[in-house]
Amino acid sequence: MTGTSPSGTELPGALRIVSAASTHVGRVRATNEDSYLEAAPIYLVADGMGGHNAGEVASAIAVEEFEKLTLQPQVTIEQLGDALRSAGRRIAEVGGGGLLSAGTTVALVATMVIDDLAYWVVLNLGDSRVYRLSDEIFEQVSVDHSVVQELMDRGEITAQEAQRHPHRHMVTRALGGGPDSEPDYWLIPVESGDRMLICSDGLSGEVDDATIERVLRSPAPIEVVCEDLVELALAAGGHDNVTVVIVEAAGPQGAPSAPAPGTGEEVEIDEDTLPRPIPGSASP
Ligand code: MN
Repeated sequence: MTGTSPSGTELPGALRIVSAASTHVGRVRATNEDSYLEAAPIYLVADGMGGHNAGEVASAIAVEEFEKLTLQPQVTIEQLGDALRSAGRRIAEVGGGGLLSAGTTVALVATMVIDDLAYWVVLNLGDSRVYRLSDEIFEQVSVDHSVVQELMDRGEITAQEAQRHPHRHMVTRALGGGPDSEPDYWLIPVESGDRMLICSDGLSGEVDDATIERVLRSPAPIEVVCEDLVELALAAGGHDNVTVVIVEAAGPQGAPSAPAPGTGEEVEIDEDTLPRPIPGSASP
């Protein structure tokens, strides 16, 4: 399934936001528990977990709650937090109160205008990912809430070992699944030509970052890039559902990396933008 927003969305600085998405059940799973939303100003991927279709329901609830915010031109951080909490409550009801009986990841990109400048807001909860391609920069913006990320943070395993680790699918935070559902946020100025990639672990677990970067740098239209990334995940085995959403900023914003006077530090989200602290030896 592929979708594209044909008309695009206008932002300050004559920036035009366009998006595309593609999802596939994969080659192993019977159902696709991933859901996605691609409706300005919100773009997200949710990877559901839990038996008896609970994962499918959980990821769909996340999409439904955030979809309510797409009827307006702009969103605030508070609204994103509220949508997340509403979804979390509904998912907990589906799960019947059992720990981890239903849950979902949420990896989200929203566009936000602050003092006439356009920003990407990135929200993450779980191990779906947001990557950013901006000129020479290619980076994973989100930090996984996963067991292997914690092991990497402690220097116990390498990124390569994480790809094959037996606990690589174990998340440490999720929406509706257990006690910790606190998201991380990032706020990044939009640059003309930026491509933001949101994906489930069905892509990042099968295709390495160097390959993802190479495909994302292709001059091809984003709907083609979405299809190519899904095809690569399937060719690598397609062990999981795979979902890809790409959001692209086209047009000149001028020099967004040098904010206009008076729009400097106060627009930054303070300590909340940082990845969570390393848990260390807190739990025995
Ligand atoms: Mn998955």
